[in-house]
Amino acid sequence: MKWDISDIGSWTYKDFPAGAVIPEAGNSNDYITGGWRSERPWRDDSKCTQCLLCWIVCPDTSINVADEKVTTFDLDHCKGCGICAQVCPVDAIDMVPEGCDLPEVK
Ligand code: SF4
Ligand code: SF4
Repeated sequence: MKWDISDIGSWTYKDFPAGAVIPEAGNSNDYITGGWRSERPWRDDSKCTQCLLCWIVCPDTSINVADEKVTTFDLDHCKGCGICAQVCPVDAIDMVPEGCDLPEVK
């Protein structure tokens, strides 16, 4: 379906056609939503103090924890926002470009 948007500048919110419909709430875990990420987090375990601040703030629940310790990043759902790297008090997380040849993500 194509929309005629030649006069879109004059549209009000009521003129926009309905977009995608999400039939079930809370289904994002069923899809790989990290596909648009251009950078990914990389954690240096030798610096990490396991304060879990990154886990608390991650908006995509993409920091995996086991036995009260950060283990890995859920790269199927991490969007690469970099919030975890920003909040880490000991700079243990770096954002690295996708496809770069750095150490394996921990
Ligand atoms: S980059 Fe963003 S989405 Fe990915 S783990 Fe860090 S806080 Fe979560
Ligand atoms: S915020 Fe930094 S120090 Fe704290 S758990 Fe995350 S990576 Fe480790």
